[in-house]
Amino acid sequence: MNYGALEAGGTKMVVAIGDENGRILEQQSIPTTTPDETMPKIIEYFKGKEIRTLGVACFGPIDLNKSSKTYGYITSTPKTAWKNFNIVGCLKDALRIPVGFDTDVNGSILGEITYGCAKGLTDAIYLTIGTGIGGGVMSNGRLLHGMLHPELGHIRIGKRADDKGSSVCPFHDDCLEGLASGVSIEKRWGKKGVELKDNEEVWELEADYIATALVNYCLTLSPQKIILGGGVMHQEQLFPLIRNKFRDKMAGYIQTKELENLDEYIVPASLHDDQGIMGAVKIAIDADK
Ligand code: ZN
Repeated sequence: MNYGALEAGGTKMVVAIGDENGRILEQQSIPTTTPDETMPKIIEYFKGKEIRTLGVACFGPIDLNKSSKTYGYITSTPKTAWKNFNIVGCLKDALRIPVGFDTDVNGSILGEITYGCAKGLTDAIYLTIGTGIGGGVMSNGRLLHGMLHPELGHIRIGKRADDKGSSVCPFHDDCLEGLASGVSIEKRWGKKGVELKDNEEVWELEADYIATALVNYCLTLSPQKIILGGGVMHQEQLFPLIRNKFRDKMAGYIQTKELENLDEYIVPASLHDDQGIMGAVKIAIDADK
């Protein structure tokens, strides 16, 4: 049984075929330019592949409310060519199969819960820290959508007094994405994160901001595990720094067996950057009902 998977990102579209066990059988990457150019290539890839359903894990904001007139649309994205684009409708019309739809980061947490390091858990968070910051939430065994979908990258964390940088978020002067995304690091220090590996000051501040956010997620969503992915988190020296600061900021308020072992609580993504596309396979499997 084969399923189609699309991880729709702002710079590239990953298309894949997976089986009912989430195994990726083949995979390709298509540059994201405009819907007119990119969508025909995606459709071409899936045509003739005999997939039962398609799962789409998409950059946002997107409309996930099935009773809404714009369900399946990419909505107010700053990527103007994709603004108000009906991506689910376009794929359904062309492929004539059921299409499951969720956020890219919900795809990643679904991938980790189904096939990765969060297997068997009912409550977990996946946070991607790269060019931007976003997070997917599994709560009580269901992907959290709510009114729209969570936007974990834009919680207010407060700018530290000694931080000489400024927020790169056009909406907020002290949100997590504004102060801790890859773009923010580059703007503050004048170099990309990968070129700053040995600069301890960079990672001390970065870990401080991330730990503040994680404490807030822990207190509000009560996850059993927090998974950190994305380009910035390839700086593995961040993990011990984040765990130590998380412990300090939590200040012993919550005492659970999970928080006794932060090495197992705050962890890197476990599926070799395939968590998103594997989650999209699971979205397709769940759409086959
Ligand atoms: Zn913001």
